[in-house]
Amino acid sequence: MIASVIVDVPAKQTDRTFDYLIPEHLESVVQKGMRVVVPFGPRKIQGFVLDVKESSSFDQLKKIEEAVDIVPVLNDELLSLSDWMTKETMCYRISALQVMLPAAMKAKYDKVFVPLTDLNSLPAALQSHFQRENPLSWKTALTNGLLKDLQKLVSDGRSELKYLVKRKGTIKKERIFKLAQDSEAIIAALSKNAERQRKVIESLHAEGGTMTSAALQESSGATAATLKALVDKGYLLEEHVEAYRDPFEHREFERTGHFQLTDDQKQAIEPILETVNSYRQRTFLLHGVTGSGKTEIYLQTIDQVLKQGRQAIMLVPEISLTPQMVQRFKGRFGDQVAVMHSGLSQGEKYDEWRKIHRGEVNVVVGARSAIFAPFEKIGVIIIDEEHETSYKQEDAPRYHARDVAIERSKRHDCPVILGSATPSLESFARAQKGNYELLKLQYRMNQQEMPDVQVVDMREELREGNRSMFSRELLAKIEERLEKKEQVVLFLNRRGHSSFIMCRDCGTVMQCPHCEVSLTYHRFKESMKCHYCGHEEHVPEICPECTSEHIRYFGTGTQKVEEELVKLLPQARTIRMDVDTTSRKGSHEKLLDAFGRGEADILLGTQMIAKGLDFPNITLVGVLSADTMLHLPDFRASEKTFQLLTQVSGRAGRHEKPGEVVIQTYTPEHFSIELAKSQNFEWFYQKEMVMRKMAQYPPFYYLSLITLSHENVNKVAAVCSEIAGILERNLSVQAIVLGPVASPIARIQNKYRYQCIVKYKNEPELKPLLKKIMDQYATPGKDAVTIQIDVQPYMMM
Ligand code: ADP
Ligand code: ZN
Ligand code: ZN
Repeated sequence: MIASVIVDVPAKQTDRTFDYLIPEHLESVVQKGMRVVVPFGPRKIQGFVLDVKESSSFDQLKKIEEAVDIVPVLNDELLSLSDWMTKETMCYRISALQVMLPAAMKAKYDKVFVPLTDLNSLPAALQSHFQRENPLSWKTALTNGLLKDLQKLVSDGRSELKYLVKRKGTIKKERIFKLAQDSEAIIAALSKNAERQRKVIESLHAEGGTMTSAALQESSGATAATLKALVDKGYLLEEHVEAYRDPFEHREFERTGHFQLTDDQKQAIEPILETVNSYRQRTFLLHGVTGSGKTEIYLQTIDQVLKQGRQAIMLVPEISLTPQMVQRFKGRFGDQVAVMHSGLSQGEKYDEWRKIHRGEVNVVVGARSAIFAPFEKIGVIIIDEEHETSYKQEDAPRYHARDVAIERSKRHDCPVILGSATPSLESFARAQKGNYELLKLQYRMNQQEMPDVQVVDMREELREGNRSMFSRELLAKIEERLEKKEQVVLFLNRRGHSSFIMCRDCGTVMQCPHCEVSLTYHRFKESMKCHYCGHEEHVPEICPECTSEHIRYFGTGTQKVEEELVKLLPQARTIRMDVDTTSRKGSHEKLLDAFGRGEADILLGTQMIAKGLDFPNITLVGVLSADTMLHLPDFRASEKTFQLLTQVSGRAGRHEKPGEVVIQTYTPEHFSIELAKSQNFEWFYQKEMVMRKMAQYPPFYYLSLITLSHENVNKVAAVCSEIAGILERNLSVQAIVLGPVASPIARIQNKYRYQCIVKYKNEPELKPLLKKIMDQYATPGKDAVTIQIDVQPYMMM
């Protein structure tokens, strides 16, 4: 038998299958969707088996060296999806395959077979091996010719092949204790004054006979020594079992039931359920302001899907994967839920993936990559906050989770629900055209009013002599909240953008020596950092240009706002949340929890606090500078500003107490700020569509972005102009080729960057052409120009 293998070398020459002979001992083991190790040139590398066949048009085939998996890690649907993704995003097939597996599976590991049933029930041959070695190593299985039998066991769920990841994220073991005899018999046998030991036995008995070491010590007050004594006496059994690392393990999830849906919600959910029940594909756009009950609709749809014995994928943006969000899903569906987000260690992500792969859970709640959850029978895919750009992956494969969701739903005959208070223009336009079905939730639950939004003109403040970053109005309102013991959220645009270091005498701004961007000031270490290449240096004492000593930092990083708050309102307790204070695992939740418990009056943060925050005591939201995002070189700048302002405003007055929002800006007349004030999405949509049409941008035109980089600026410019020429000559007259121009960030890590943008409506020849260009210019070699093609760019920098 012969296997067609895609090897793990992302390059043009290897972007096809290679045939390998399956050696006899692996003949009945190797299957489609499994990974194998194959000889490739002088090396041995991993690859994915895409097909198993009887003949090959090549002779002199090399043999597969080793099997990596025992059962397929990618099912047929995911294999065919990887093919689609390869074509759609113009990536190498291997990249499309790799992105579907958790990172831990790419690391080095040992493999062992773990029995999942009583050993006595196993076939005699295996039984004796397991008795000698448990878990049984892959090596033993291989040398004894057991792979085939073990494969059957794994497929039946009676054993599991475990990858023991060596470096990060090994499988976590937990010590558990069990009663070895009847508890009463043990207690009777214990000496009268063995008070502690008796307590241990009672605790165990109360918990059904098995407890983890930690839980047992806590509930009985026993020390490790006490437990050991009981083990030595033969009263307790000690075992080491594998523990899934539950990222929320210390939380008790209170089970919750369904709400009785409102009439509005009923109307929205009806077509969805109808689609679920008739096993059809359909894409819904659920448009409703925050607090209008969208999540309840997701939950009840998932419930219906589970009743049919199908599974659900729920995507949420990374930053809204808060404990509160997880609580709602675990509260409703308990252990059936796996959670995947970037805060998990590699090992934890791998654990969650395994639960899905083995069919132990039926719902996955996760960020972008959860779209590849290896479910077999998907009944619904939901993308909350569908307008979020984090659903687009910026490295190869440059896929958008929304497109992948729709593609998977077609293969599973199930609906996709896209939810948002501020849908992307693309999605809303599709809904207007009837490609998606538009569903609306008009009102907030409990008829809460939308918060009152005020826009403050910061130019006016300056004119009247207020140089602070707080307008008088915002400051007065914060003071009012402090008095009433209510809470305030202050929102600042993303880190870095504005906290640069400048010489006041000559105006020099400190730049990264390798990239064309200014360095960001970090107060904590008195250092400046480049957010593109990581370059870091101390703040200079004197200006490198004019030797002046008047060097200071400008702009409003979160740290600077915090310092000013301390000056203006020394009585206020502030929690700051930004990339610096939340980079440690779990710190995000800790800070939010503390704020929820009322341990601070003000929560100050970057956009990561714009979502998911739902505390009853927040009655004021302040946006310190609405403009920072408006001036990015990005045609979506207005859209992003509107979305962000709407989202932040939604954080105030979610509960009984009415909320207020203050937006500070230097351009109060800009329509995305004006309309964010009235939170009128449809007006915004109308206006922005006119702009997009005039400027020939999506959703009227498609875009493709070609970015080239090289150390030699002349070379990169020349190649870019060549490519622009090829595009111009080969595309229709309707296509617009912009460029070659220097990219908005003209240099990164000493490489100059040039770009071309293609705007088009219908160019069937574009992708084949781009592929040809890629092949022609992506020749390996140290002097080669690096070429990147993004056929649906979200970052134009
Ligand atoms: P969204 O997802 O649109 O922000 P949610 O689903 O979170 O809205 O609903 C807002 C609040 O209203 C939540 O606290 C939720 O528990 C509650 N809620 C939702 N639907 C109902 C309902 N049918 N009856 C009562 N409360 C509801
Ligand atoms: Zn200077
Ligand atoms: Zn740099």
